[in-house]
Amino acid sequence: MKPLSIAIVGAGIGGLAVAALLRRDGHQVAVYEQATQFTRVGSGIQMAPNAMKVLRHLGVEQHLVATAFQAEQAISRSWDSGEVTSTLTLGDTVAAQFGAPYLFLHRADLHEAIAQLVPSSVIHLNHKLTVLDQSAHGVKLHFANGHVVAADMVIGADGVHSLVRETLLGPERPRFTGKIAYRTTFPADRVQGLDVSRVRTKWWGPDRHMVVYFVTRNRDTLYFVTSVPEPAEWLTPESWSAKGDLDELRAAYAGFHPDVQAILQACPEVYKWALFEREPLARWSEARVVLLGDACHPMTPYMAQGAASALEDAAILARCLQGVEQDGVQAAFALYEAVRKPRASAIQSNSSANTWLRGQTDPAWVYGYDATTVALTTPIT
Ligand SMILES: Cc1cc2nc3c(=O)[nH]c(=O)nc-3n(C[C@H](O)[C@H](O)[C@H](O)COP(=O)(O)OP(=O)(O)OC[C@H]3O[C@@H](n4cnc5c(N)ncnc54)[C@H](O)[C@@H]3O)c2cc1C
Repeated sequence: MKPLSIAIVGAGIGGLAVAALLRRDGHQVAVYEQATQFTRVGSGIQMAPNAMKVLRHLGVEQHLVATAFQAEQAISRSWDSGEVTSTLTLGDTVAAQFGAPYLFLHRADLHEAIAQLVPSSVIHLNHKLTVLDQSAHGVKLHFANGHVVAADMVIGADGVHSLVRETLLGPERPRFTGKIAYRTTFPADRVQGLDVSRVRTKWWGPDRHMVVYFVTRNRDTLYFVTSVPEPAEWLTPESWSAKGDLDELRAAYAGFHPDVQAILQACPEVYKWALFEREPLARWSEARVVLLGDACHPMTPYMAQGAASALEDAAILARCLQGVEQDGVQAAFALYEAVRKPRASAIQSNSSANTWLRGQTDPAWVYGYDATTVALTTPIT
């Protein structure tokens, strides 16, 4: 077999995961990332069992289990009274039910664990893609630093504002949801007298919410993420590190339960991020270029499934490309899209509705999925 030379644009969770899996299958992989370095901003991430099955396949499950928090329950509470409106048992129960644990961790710890699977010689930082040229024989990538490289195929894992998507489908900005997320991690002992115990809590207000959980096994670091209406469109620059105004944030949660107030008083700083989404795309690939993760199905974070979906994409795309040479690339892309698009679109639209786990919810269709073993069905032509 002649290995494919594959250029991956974007070294986020999706891009690095697919790089690791494709290298394992013998392909020649290069990852191009616009950032000059990976930075550690205060952000948590939930890895549900469906994501953990891909992380197990990547070989990082045990490492993550050793450092991450495992909540015993995910509860929903009413914003003012604190009444519990739903409880989902996690811990050993969810692991036994769906075949993998449910972890809560620092996003940077997750990113670092996956990055360590890809040699640094393969990750080209300070490479911002500016132009993509396709021909019958391959693709040329042009970067802002003047470099030009050729590859048999390209994976656009370049996030919600994807230039690769724009190249395939034309310019169209993702839809601003009218909400922004404030988020931060900070030492848990700053919150005086608060019982945050072993649960992940989502506080549901009429038009805003807040999710709180630990991101470390020893529960010394607390994280929260909000969704708050923002009247004027506020665009996040291309980074995860724009700072938010603490006074504005605290004012936005006036009247919420005292536990919420205590957490907001205790946090020393926040980051903010505008929330975008798209309708499902008309197609995910063209000739030798294919999309993955937020580049093709950006979604609100309300189900905590965006990165999980990117990991599922990575597992399925790598499986579709196993043993494939140049002439089989387009059929592999068609199979990948046929397997992935219905599920990713369903999660996008459920996430958009923001009702997940608000009342009692059966999460089996999301958490029970295993992208490493699910049947790869042939697309209907
Ligand atoms: C507030 C919030 C909370 C979330 N919580 C969760 C959660 O708990 N669980 C979960 O599963 N998901 C969660 N998500 C979703 C998750 O963060 C994303 O779905 C995930 O990061 C997408 O990964 P990706 O690799 O597709 O894209 P990204 O992580 O966005 O990576 C894209 C990469 O491409 C690079 N790039 C962009 N353009 C170029 C270019 N032109 N040239 C070169 N490089 C480029 C970027 O610098 C970036 O490194 C959350 C999202 C938000 C906003």
